[in-house]
Amino acid sequence: MRQFIRAIFCILIIAFCSCDNADRNIYKRNYTDEELRQLEAKVTLIDRLDNITANQYTDTYFQLGDAYYQHKQCDAATVAFEKGLRLDPWNYLYLLKLALLEFSNKGYPKAYRRLTVVADNCMDEKLCGLAKRYMTKREFKDINKAIITLPDMRSYSLYLVSFNKTSAVLTSAVAARLAQDFRIHVEILSDTLIPDRKNQNDPREELFNETIAMSKSSSSRAEYQTMLKQVGLASDRNLTLADKAKIVHYLCGKEKDGEQLWLSIIAIPEQYDAEILLEQLEERYKYLLGNERVLGVLALTSEDIYSTGLNYVFGSARPKLGVVSYARFMDENTPIDIAVKRTVMQAFSTTGFMIEIPRCSTPNCARAFPNSLEEHDRKDDILCDECLENLKVKYREL
Ligand SMILES: [Zn+2]
Repeated sequence: MRQFIRAIFCILIIAFCSCDNADRNIYKRNYTDEELRQLEAKVTLIDRLDNITANQYTDTYFQLGDAYYQHKQCDAATVAFEKGLRLDPWNYLYLLKLALLEFSNKGYPKAYRRLTVVADNCMDEKLCGLAKRYMTKREFKDINKAIITLPDMRSYSLYLVSFNKTSAVLTSAVAARLAQDFRIHVEILSDTLIPDRKNQNDPREELFNETIAMSKSSSSRAEYQTMLKQVGLASDRNLTLADKAKIVHYLCGKEKDGEQLWLSIIAIPEQYDAEILLEQLEERYKYLLGNERVLGVLALTSEDIYSTGLNYVFGSARPKLGVVSYARFMDENTPIDIAVKRTVMQAFSTTGFMIEIPRCSTPNCARAFPNSLEEHDRKDDILCDECLENLKVKYREL
């Protein structure tokens, strides 16, 4: 009898601890505590992996989310599912699992948007049916009225191309999220454009010039001549970039931690003029841009870009043309899902300008203007109501 009561008590505990009223059929296996710990360790490693190789480990994020879910750690499960979906945004099973978690957490607008993606696109009848069933729940009744749903604009296309080699993970994530959140057709073109070298700016040269000028003004003529001799130069006339580098390297050597300083100078990336990249795009894709069903061509690049008056920009756009750089969104320590989130938010912002909707004034919106990477990270990677409303108006005009 006591055992029976204990068994009933356990069942009740499980029922009350359950963080989700999801259809349990979508959760198939059980994870032991040990397996959960192993998955956590694996994900910590994957977070640090280089962006190309991380893609094949997307499943680990999903498995960890499943394991957290089964161990009733729903907040942690939500985070793991979000990480996995940033790398694999068309995974309908996990879109659904996350939507149901958000639903049970009363995050109705987010849940509803994810369910819409599954209901719109998923070919698996079971998953599609489940999404549609959930969308009729009474909790969504008010949301349905409050939520701004964009019309299906998949007869309009946006093309995605690369300047130089770009990360396949970032490119496919950007394409998927633009398609889902803007409800348009997005096609990745296999072209890899080579930025014209005349567009290039080497910020190091400016720094070299300033350093050499400073050295000249702060030393006597004789000292300056001796320094030039030391680096094997007769005069400072017609200096090449390599000559300037030699002088600055020598001057760094005179400073405390000079080698470190030199290494940080040469690590400054070369940059491309964003405006000229847009002109290159326009020239190359004239044949597409004339089509009224083409919303534009967006280029992604791993190169650093700048614009007149600005040392660097994350992206630049004009009607139907845009470029997004992820050069400043990742280094060897950036978890790949963070790099994806940053790039997706910038792509949302740039695409908005390409389609000609106004700049956003909602601080948390993916399209809000960030003054720093820190501010960029504080935003949510979804479009706010103001942007959705503006898009809706724009779509009506098309
Ligand atoms: Zn917005």
